[in-house]
Amino acid sequence: MAGTLDGRVALVTGGSGGIGRATALEFARQGAKVVVSDLLVEAGQETARLIGAAGGQATFIKTDVTQAAEVQALVGQTVETYGRLDCAFNNAGIEGGMAKTGDYTEERWAQVIRINLKGVWLCMKYEIQHMLGHGGGAIVNTASVAGLVGFRYGPAYVASKHGVNGLTKTAALEYAKADIRVNAVCPGVIRTPMFERGLQKNPHLEERFAGVHPVGRIGQPEEIARAVVWLCSPAASFVTGTQLPVDGGFVAQ
Ligand code: NAD
Repeated sequence: MAGTLDGRVALVTGGSGGIGRATALEFARQGAKVVVSDLLVEAGQETARLIGAAGGQATFIKTDVTQAAEVQALVGQTVETYGRLDCAFNNAGIEGGMAKTGDYTEERWAQVIRINLKGVWLCMKYEIQHMLGHGGGAIVNTASVAGLVGFRYGPAYVASKHGVNGLTKTAALEYAKADIRVNAVCPGVIRTPMFERGLQKNPHLEERFAGVHPVGRIGQPEEIARAVVWLCSPAASFVTGTQLPVDGGFVAQ
């Protein structure tokens, strides 16, 4: 059966695990060649290996999304390796720790904003520069339900994800006529290494988070992956500038 992205090339940041790995695998399942990128080398190479073992094509490129030169090189090497860049999933991010707004440290604030917000902007900047000269493309940024509503004790994370949504809308308007679609996905709580780290600190977290999603459970990375790949596919040709909650009904409450 033909995939919805046959012949396309997709780039995934934060592709070493969790939502990024699941999405890299789904891009490949739909026929795309995939560049997997992350700070974590071994786990990133493992994502590429898993794609190869399933019959797809993938390469890992180590990149720190906060470094402009590295992001520019990532886009350049993607095009060098596979000849084009059609789909980009800007997904690398960190949780940033829990503290009230009045107690949050400046250091932590700077780190969260640098990775979650500046990192997404840098990726978009170089992806857009390439796509502009090459017939357009589709970009999806990972925001969060925390980009749509507030969460106690996560001031920097919430601000960064609201920022990602604002950036997404702005770029969507700027490049709509250039055939570059830009959307954001807003996951609810998803079972990933990020979630598992929280679980180590508080074993009751799963029960609590399951209870706040109307469907009564947390989500799986594959449930985000399918939404991202759909947003990048021709089936979503009239969809741009949107923030798509994939959250078991969380923000409907
Ligand atoms: P994760 O920790 O497994 O994945 C994040 C990845 O980003 C990691 O592989 C990490 O190495 C990478 N990364 C961190 N800093 C980086 C940098 N400077 N440069 C390059 N890569 C870097 O967690 P995940 O849950 O899969 O998170 C993926 C995205 O989904 C994040 O943006 C996160 O904020 C978002 N998100 C997660 C949830 C959830 O419940 N898990 C919910 C909503 C949104």
